[in-house]
Amino acid sequence: MDSSSHPAPSLALSFEFFPPNTQEGAVKLTQTASELARLKPEFFSVTYGAGGSTQERTLKTVLQLRESGLCAAPHLSCIGSTKDSLRATLQQYKDQGIDHLVALRGDLPSGTATAGEFHYANELVSFIRHEFGQHFRIEVAAYPEFHPQAKSVQNDLLNFKRKVDAGADSAITQYFYNPDSYFHFINQCEKLGLSIPIFPGIMPIGRFSQLARFSDACGTEIPRWMRKKMEDYNDDIPSIQAFGLDVVTDLCAKLIAHGVPGLHFYTMNQSSLSVEICRRLGLSKGSET
Ligand code: FAD
Repeated sequence: MDSSSHPAPSLALSFEFFPPNTQEGAVKLTQTASELARLKPEFFSVTYGAGGSTQERTLKTVLQLRESGLCAAPHLSCIGSTKDSLRATLQQYKDQGIDHLVALRGDLPSGTATAGEFHYANELVSFIRHEFGQHFRIEVAAYPEFHPQAKSVQNDLLNFKRKVDAGADSAITQYFYNPDSYFHFINQCEKLGLSIPIFPGIMPIGRFSQLARFSDACGTEIPRWMRKKMEDYNDDIPSIQAFGLDVVTDLCAKLIAHGVPGLHFYTMNQSSLSVEICRRLGLSKGSET
């Protein structure tokens, strides 16, 4: 599908990176970020290993992006952390001029025993608001297909509400391929009176085996027809990517038609698939300079 003849109204785009662990990866990420920057995103975000395992690299990557003149927000997870350690990290972010965060619970690596002083993301949001007032714009995670550990569907929704009530400004969803799950989630949030912007998370499709592994872990459904089709392509990556571009562009077009406030791309530190999806959606207008 190519909808570039019908440009979408202005949408807030954002792109997620993970912190590279080699110098070569860091150099490549600068190039990737500059390619994505042509789409004039509102911000880039950089993931954070639970228990602080990538803390230094997250900050380093955020600062590297900011040095290139880009807006960048670190993710921050609280599980396994103490109040003192998080206060110090937040102060460091503030001192560096960072005022935008993605606040998460995170998942403890298996075998890690210490849960720390935080159990859930709503506690982190409350802590940030208590200690730093309105300094940070806070994004939280949302799960249209429900968090895999949720005790019940209603419970998961109410737990999302706790994060909003604690002071989250906006949310980014886990990725999904069934737009109805997002529409239903938004509808349920509206019924609870939640009015913060909820940005759909978009995962371009690069490799099926990797996508299947991630999706099993995070509870995202890959619809049967998509799974079957990609299984049939076997190791034919160009065909999987061509199929994925059609499917994900179509998903984004449906979301845009529904009036989403923006799109958050899980880039896996690559630019080409996100750039192509945006081009097909007509979102790269005015960026080809
Ligand atoms: P929470 O909102 O705390 O929810 C976790 C579970 O606990 C849910 O089942 C919920 O229903 C339940 N729950 C929540 N609050 C309560 C409560 N008060 N009482 C009882 N139950 C409760 N992980 C990383 O490690 N690093 C990252 O950088 C990262 N970035 C992410 C970005 C996005 C946009 C998303 C969607 C996920 C990201 N994750 C990241 C994954 C995330 O850490 C995991 O999904 C994690 O399992 C849950 O984090 P959360 O902040 O959603 O947790």
